[in-house]
Amino acid sequence: MSERSAQGSFGDSAKTNGVGTISSEPFGVFEGRQVQRFTLANSGGMSLQILDFGGIIQSIVVPDAFGTSDNVVLGYADLDGYLHDQTYFGALIGRYANRIAGGSYSIGGVTYKAALNEGANSLHGGVRGFNVKIWSATPSVEDGDPQLRLTCLSPDGEEGYPGSLSVEVTYALRADNSIEIHYAASTDKPTVLNLTNHSYFNLAGQGSGSIYDHVLRLNAASYTPVDHNLIPTGVIEPVAGTPFDFTTPRPLGASIRSGAEQLAIACGIDHNFVLDRSGAGNASLRRAAVVHDPRSGRTLECLTTEPGIQVYTGNFLHGDAVLACGETARQGDGFCLETQHFPDSPNQPQFPSTLLQPGESFDSTTVYRFR
Ligand code: BGC
Repeated sequence: MSERSAQGSFGDSAKTNGVGTISSEPFGVFEGRQVQRFTLANSGGMSLQILDFGGIIQSIVVPDAFGTSDNVVLGYADLDGYLHDQTYFGALIGRYANRIAGGSYSIGGVTYKAALNEGANSLHGGVRGFNVKIWSATPSVEDGDPQLRLTCLSPDGEEGYPGSLSVEVTYALRADNSIEIHYAASTDKPTVLNLTNHSYFNLAGQGSGSIYDHVLRLNAASYTPVDHNLIPTGVIEPVAGTPFDFTTPRPLGASIRSGAEQLAIACGIDHNFVLDRSGAGNASLRRAAVVHDPRSGRTLECLTTEPGIQVYTGNFLHGDAVLACGETARQGDGFCLETQHFPDSPNQPQFPSTLLQPGESFDSTTVYRFR
């Protein structure tokens, strides 16, 4: 059985019988369909807003160490912002998170062409990825925790991916101020799949400036260096002695400005780190990253069942996105922790497989916990 069929770990994070709520309101119209915004709130003073368009996390409001609440993710004020977005703020990414070189890959001797949307590459699912779909949404409160279940059916051949794919993503807001995201999927033909969420965090608050003083610790002793098209070279390189060594806490800015060639290629950190999963079963949640912001005192912990994490420091925020707070997003104004299988895995047999076979259940969990 491949690790793609590992059975569920949803619910592994603390459930504390909260008294959460979930409500919804209209958020504009896309291609003749009403978009809804859902607001999930818990008893710990935290709230989360999610759109059924793209499964987008629009805001995460959480108190800082001094009791002041702020939105700690980048997002737009209205649907129009998301319809013109180039950044993937907060979005669900599929069918394939990150890049497939040339958009081309083979399964069982048959070559498939994923839609190209970044020069010669296919990025984040192609031209019309999961980030621009309207998902069917089912709100509920389970054991006191508000949840939003999003489902969609991706037709056979969509964006160049084989198999009719049924996808279910559940966001749950726990009473311990964590957001638990569970991804499930099944297919009727062999296909490749790599799902993630593309939230840009700024623990000092959206629009508060750069994240360069945020301190990152990663449970990763190696990473996958990239070529000039940001495609992994295929080498799995130890981080020791490089600016990518976050095995002990290190400010992001100090690393980014260290002058290494890999950082110049990506204009900052935009790399997949190989998470240490030794001793962990495929389905068990492992701590991947901890980020601390000294200014607000907020800490974000990320746990996942995935083997990799794309740390992206908002290198390509060019100043053309106006945030909900009215500020313009510029380079370094947010960071992403995209839990995932490795970029371009369908072309790199030495990487963990992203193949999903009929009869298997894709099952993946990621938790973002705020302290
Ligand atoms: C990629 C970046 C890309 C960004 C926005 C990240 O996941 O690694 O290279 O610019 O998403 O598309």
